[in-house]
Amino acid sequence: GASAAAEANSPAVEFRDIDIAYGKFVAVRDFSLSIRKGSFVTLLGPSGCGKTTILRSIAGLVDISGGQIMIDGRRVDDVPIYKRNIGLVFQSYALFPHKNVFDNVAFGLKYRNVPKPEIARKVGKALEMVRLPGSEKKLPSQLSGGQQQRIALARAIVFEPQVLLLDEPLSALDANMREEMRVEIKKIQKETGITAIFVTHDQEEALSMSDRIVVMNAGAVEQIGTPEEVYETPATAFVADFLGKANMLAGTVSRSGQAVVLATGQTIDVACPRPLGDGSKVTVVVRPQKFSVGAGTSVNRLTGRVVSASYLGGSAIYEIDIGGKISLRANAPINGRVLREGETADFGFDPEGCVLLDED
Ligand code: ATP
Repeated sequence: GASAAAEANSPAVEFRDIDIAYGKFVAVRDFSLSIRKGSFVTLLGPSGCGKTTILRSIAGLVDISGGQIMIDGRRVDDVPIYKRNIGLVFQSYALFPHKNVFDNVAFGLKYRNVPKPEIARKVGKALEMVRLPGSEKKLPSQLSGGQQQRIALARAIVFEPQVLLLDEPLSALDANMREEMRVEIKKIQKETGITAIFVTHDQEEALSMSDRIVVMNAGAVEQIGTPEEVYETPATAFVADFLGKANMLAGTVSRSGQAVVLATGQTIDVACPRPLGDGSKVTVVVRPQKFSVGAGTSVNRLTGRVVSASYLGGSAIYEIDIGGKISLRANAPINGRVLREGETADFGFDPEGCVLLDED
């Protein structure tokens, strides 16, 4: 009917002007976000910015003090936790230690009174999906951290929830396992077509896994966009710094917005998408990866002294001092050899490699 059609077209999850307070402390302010069905959205931000609070509000684990939350076009503010059809995966795997894998994964199905043969079939399918078929009889203590997290994922998706919530699910794993699980989670999410909301403070995880990233700071949204958008065109200094430790060079606009005069007095060319009046104060954002050593054919060239150099294989990270006035961070391909501390060199970048932020 008409309502089914409306449901099919509505966002999987929608936040409308959400406020959440713990007593007098406002943890989330005026949060609005619309999440398309089947997409993978990441809430990214520093510790304490409110990511977990928002995730928990979807599940009904914290109460909102203002606004509305819609799931599939229906208000859920008054729907109790047990009636919300939501899968949850936490950092601590939170498996039942005395239940075997089968009973852990079957939990949400038994709870929903699914008939036994169907439970067996669905658990088997979920375990195949997380690549642990045949592990039904094992106890969590007999599994590695990565395997336990896979079981937690199977338990969260087995009942085909409307939304899958993932709260820093990879942070307890070692570096290798973390990378493997990034790919794995993403694959399972695409295969099942489930809508996923992922919380992390790790920018690499966010960039590599998400369809869209919501960058948060102090309880509010700083920017929403695809990984490329938030990385390449940060809307605020906070986003530029949080994603990729960008260089932020203060300067003054000149040549009708085509150039910026830096603190050193040097003028650099910039590609400015919107006109800014000469004399306006701006911040030029330049990613460390935009630099090349020796300047080459680059339009802009800054000469500086290498303060520190770390070889990464293929490229090196340099801290560079420009005339005692600017300190730069460059991650540049090795040009012949790694520069040494104390050496003076040219560092080039192109106008397209920088973004201008208006001081206001
Ligand atoms: P982290 O990555 O450290 O978990 P986060 O971005 O997920 O951080 P939240 O856990 O959502 O942040 O917390 C947001 C703010 O609300 C923090 O300042 C936190 O101290 C506060 N807070 C969270 N839970 C409570 C609570 N139960 N009572 C009071 N304050 C809380």
